[in-house]
Amino acid sequence: MGKGASYTILIVDDNCHNLFSLRTLIEEYIDAEVIEADCGEKALQKLFKFPVDLIILDIQMEGMDGFELASIIKQRKKTRDIPIVFLTASYINDEFKKRGFEAGAVDYLTKPIDEYQLINRINTYLKLIEKERTMNMLLEQKVQEQTRELRKAKEAAEQANEAKSMFLANISHELRTPLNILLSSTQILNLYLQNEGELDREKVRSKVNIQVQNCYRLLRLVNNLIDITKIDSGHFELNPTECNIIELVEDITLSVKEYVEDKGITLIFDTDCEEMIMNCDLDAIERIILNLLSNAVKFTPRGGSIFVSVKCTGEAVCISVKDTGIGICEDKYNMIFERFKQVDDLLTRKHEGSGIGLSLTKSLVEMHGGRIYVSSEYQKGSEFTVEFPRKPAQVEKGSYNHFLGKSGENVNQRIHIEFSDIYF
Ligand code: ADP
Repeated sequence: MGKGASYTILIVDDNCHNLFSLRTLIEEYIDAEVIEADCGEKALQKLFKFPVDLIILDIQMEGMDGFELASIIKQRKKTRDIPIVFLTASYINDEFKKRGFEAGAVDYLTKPIDEYQLINRINTYLKLIEKERTMNMLLEQKVQEQTRELRKAKEAAEQANEAKSMFLANISHELRTPLNILLSSTQILNLYLQNEGELDREKVRSKVNIQVQNCYRLLRLVNNLIDITKIDSGHFELNPTECNIIELVEDITLSVKEYVEDKGITLIFDTDCEEMIMNCDLDAIERIILNLLSNAVKFTPRGGSIFVSVKCTGEAVCISVKDTGIGICEDKYNMIFERFKQVDDLLTRKHEGSGIGLSLTKSLVEMHGGRIYVSSEYQKGSEFTVEFPRKPAQVEKGSYNHFLGKSGENVNQRIHIEFSDIYF
């Protein structure tokens, strides 16, 4: 029998003629390797050495007979699942058959048996073995797949845990900075009060301004934190309202015009259509646009410009905030939308910021079924584009008041909060 056969069949008989004729028959019709043993002991040795798929066993043998051998095979862990077929010429009555099955045989064949029938029987067992093999293989694959998935889930849980620790470390740092500023300016104010003589109102006003600005920074951070936590835990709910998105974006842009121009930056709004009614959460849209505008102001030097444009297509609305600022290198495009990621690291940073804004903006955009992307040229400027699908209006027309908002803070406070990282 050639190497690489699909099965191995052990034939056990103390009659060498029987062994020879059975081997010849099997090798002629079946793709199997045949190994032989002429007594029970040798059969056990072969079973110890080779993996065997099927055993064909004579009963009447010198020394250990077939029944004895079968029960030893069935007792051993390594061999107990190998099907045994008895093939006998002398033990043909029902009593022996019963013993054979009790000893663990799957079949009991008596001679004379025609070749065709024998080969068919053997083939049937081999097919069953093949089926079992396939099932075992599938089961193994499933186990491996599940193990892989479990490992992945474990890794994800570990990463999430690590991210949470990093998040806490970053947040603590971000909270400490404005708090330290608040503390030191309060101490200075205290010193002013202790000094005898006239109080320098300008100096006091400047310290109070710093305090107000840092309170806004703390408020922004806490607002962002609350929203991020809500988004992460799936508790952030959009409150969709039917609105004219063009008018909304224009209102938001115009409301910060004064701030932007105070920084010596020109702000231009442009649109190619007057009205586009869509469903959106007005508060969220305001957060998105204010975040993009405050970033544009933060990273655009005096003398620069910011262009806000809204373009409508049949299916979508594209809002773009373009600046002539410092720009972003292409390899940082994806990173800036990740939480706490900023192009400048902590030590070399020239601008204030926590690196939460864009990640929150991205989540809010995606919750609207939209997407946000950036294109930029380093040292020339950046353009952030938000694309919203134009969903059919299903909700009642909202009575959103841009100048009040839903958080209770008025528009000026919300702008102060969003622009709190920028010094004027
Ligand atoms: P931050 O609060 O630090 O501004 P963001 O998440 O809003 O956080 O922005 C992340 C980073 O992306 C910024 O720190 C900056 O490095 C980069 N960035 C965002 N907008 C601009 C822009 N218009 N021009 C240049 N860089 C920008």
